[in-house]
Amino acid sequence: VFNFSPGPATLPEAVLRRAADEMLDWHGCGMSVMEMSHRGKDFMSIFAETESLARELLAVPANYKVLFMQGGALGENAIVPMNLIGRTGKADYVVTGDWSKKSLKEAGKYGAARIAASGDASNFTAIPKQSEWKLDPAASYVHICSNETIGGVEYHWTPDTGSTPLVADMSSNIMSRPIDVSRYGVIYAGAQKNMGPSGVTLVIVRDDLLGHALPITPSAFNYQVQAENESMYNTPPTYAIYIAGLVYQHIKASGGLAAMEKHNAQKAALLYDFLDESRFFTNKVAKADRSLMNVTFWLKDAALDDEFVKGAQARGMVQLKGHRSVGGMRASIYNAMPAEGVKALVAYMKDFEARHA
Ligand code: PLP
Repeated sequence: VFNFSPGPATLPEAVLRRAADEMLDWHGCGMSVMEMSHRGKDFMSIFAETESLARELLAVPANYKVLFMQGGALGENAIVPMNLIGRTGKADYVVTGDWSKKSLKEAGKYGAARIAASGDASNFTAIPKQSEWKLDPAASYVHICSNETIGGVEYHWTPDTGSTPLVADMSSNIMSRPIDVSRYGVIYAGAQKNMGPSGVTLVIVRDDLLGHALPITPSAFNYQVQAENESMYNTPPTYAIYIAGLVYQHIKASGGLAAMEKHNAQKAALLYDFLDESRFFTNKVAKADRSLMNVTFWLKDAALDDEFVKGAQARGMVQLKGHRSVGGMRASIYNAMPAEGVKALVAYMKDFEARHA
């Protein structure tokens, strides 16, 4: 099937085959990666390679730590303020959809989290322009969600927050294109879209932001404690880290993030070009802010939604229903979605339109 799920999402078949081959006996050691001690030399070698590939693919500068944590991106909604808000007690949030709304709400438990800009005037179909942001110079950080998985809006530019650290939830577009890590204070992302199975959260944190955690911060969620222990203060999600490493190897062998960017832009253009010419399907997102990862669309007549989803399923295209909070449809087309999947979807949409328009 072509799996358009927003996450956990489709993974490269080559990665799944390799994991299956190595499942019972990793490299002749006589056991599965799942059974290895996280402190043993075999897992340590897997971990070191995974970290090194994450650094290489994202070109992480030397003054940043790369951590593999647990708790997911929603966990980070609390972990970020616990680690950073103590510097001034305040934080700025740019709200562009459901995920950044959740981040703001959670941060309010740990300090004065305020909205510096919001996409509500456009019903979250556009990213507010930086000239409209009202940043507080005393904020400990400015938080954004670089790709709103539900609404399908994505930043195609990096905000300039001056000396205030920029924090980004990149769960749904990390590794989809090159980024300049040096523009951020903290980047976090759950793995289950572009990096592997759920259970591991990649956190990239600039060295000077370590050591400011609120006293209530659980040790396992304290960036400094995890950095000092190379993400092994507690048992890390070993199997998820191993699969992430295989995904990173696959991305590198496929040409790295520049190749991902090209491939993703081509795939998204197939769908958006069709949506722009269709008189039956529409996309509501401002052109400049359209997500290359999650393409949202609506049928002219919502009464046909179920028929559309069922027909897609019958042709091997699954998980197209939009999030319940916004309705409509959503095609999540992360790195591992082949162009053939998007072409098959567009062909089906054309056919559906011809039958119903
Ligand atoms: N942030 C974004 C942008 C997401 O897409 C998701 C999940 O889809 C989350 C946060 C929540 O992540 P988790 O369920 O791993 O905590």
